[in-house]
Amino acid sequence: MNAIVLEREVCAQNYAPMPIMLSHGEGVWLTDVAGVRRLDMMSGYSAVSLGHGHPRILKVLNEQAKRLAVTSRAFHAEPLGPFLAKLCAVAGQEMALPMNTGAEAVETAIKAARRWGHKVKGIPDGRARIIVADNNFHGRTTTIVGFSSEASYRDGFGPFAPGFDSVPFGDAAAAEAAITPDTAAILIEPIQGEAGIVVPPDGYLAALRALCDRHDVLLILDEIQSGLGRTGRWFAHQHEGVTPDGLIVGKALGGGVYPVSAFLSSRRVMQLFGPGSHGSTFGGNALAAAIGHEALRVIEEERLVERSAELGAYMRERLTAMTGGLASEVRGRGLWIGVEIAEGAGDASEIVARLADAGVLTKETHERTIRFAPPLTISREELDWGLERCESVFATRER
Ligand SMILES: *Cc1c(COP(=O)(O)O)cnc(C)c1O
Repeated sequence: MNAIVLEREVCAQNYAPMPIMLSHGEGVWLTDVAGVRRLDMMSGYSAVSLGHGHPRILKVLNEQAKRLAVTSRAFHAEPLGPFLAKLCAVAGQEMALPMNTGAEAVETAIKAARRWGHKVKGIPDGRARIIVADNNFHGRTTTIVGFSSEASYRDGFGPFAPGFDSVPFGDAAAAEAAITPDTAAILIEPIQGEAGIVVPPDGYLAALRALCDRHDVLLILDEIQSGLGRTGRWFAHQHEGVTPDGLIVGKALGGGVYPVSAFLSSRRVMQLFGPGSHGSTFGGNALAAAIGHEALRVIEEERLVERSAELGAYMRERLTAMTGGLASEVRGRGLWIGVEIAEGAGDASEIVARLADAGVLTKETHERTIRFAPPLTISREELDWGLERCESVFATRER
């Protein structure tokens, strides 16, 4: 049986993958079972920011797996402390709670916010509320999809956890108007990824920071996709010079090979987690810690943040020029650009299929936006190769 047919037979159809069966990846390149090589401009939603099979990540993966991998945190393992020290240092936070997937780290942030609200701010127990943004994406647990505005994420999955208030993204006044004495936190993505790489107006994060200070509310940023160099800074919030009270990271932290996520905050907030309050069998295991630590070193030593800023500006300029008649907007920061296809200029998914035929793998988000997010390790020559292919596809679409 054909492997795609087999997969359709036995794997839940909660995704609709392109009919391309990949067999190996190296750097920015993905090769299918027929031997066709394509440029990865999707990077596993930023999980593969270091490219496929980064030699330093593979070395650590192999060495640490042979030595010690999973023990649970019932015992100490050497790699965890140094990893989290490095993570806290690059993030400007004091302590971290390690988890595996992004959604788990978001759940950790929600628990931290609620516990802080009840035990520090003095909100009556069970009443803490969290303000979120319309069109957010924070993962797929029942609590998280409960405050999503996307019908397909929610349909039939209720009842949902209460305690969330959603306000328009980019509107600090709306967030302030939603604050009540029971508000513990504002939880947002500094740039909304799944919504279509939506960049808020300048000053939005700084305004949220100020109103959180004013109302004694925690500002928690989900940088699972925007963090670790994707936007041309270590974290997207650094574009506005704000420091969040809580920070959520994941995706690229796993070096493209392993799920590694974390919630970071101050000692003051993190001390609210004592033994028994929260946990994860795999979270913070020796293998995860060694890989996460190496991923941070690679980003730093290969200057991937700077590369994202430089090549991102270049990519955006060229994409803007080549999509002139087709795009209603080209937006983003660093190597993270959304091209919004204008109304009546065709279907984003159809263009994505044509790009794949031309040798560039990407993915639409919602119906109208095509995302371009190559690994941050991409070279200028590789990027040029991809952009030329994009140009040929967009040129034939021009009206
Ligand atoms: C991908 C993503 C998540 C969820 O991460 P998972 O590892 O899929 O659970 C949460 N928040 C943001 C902003 C994301 O992009």
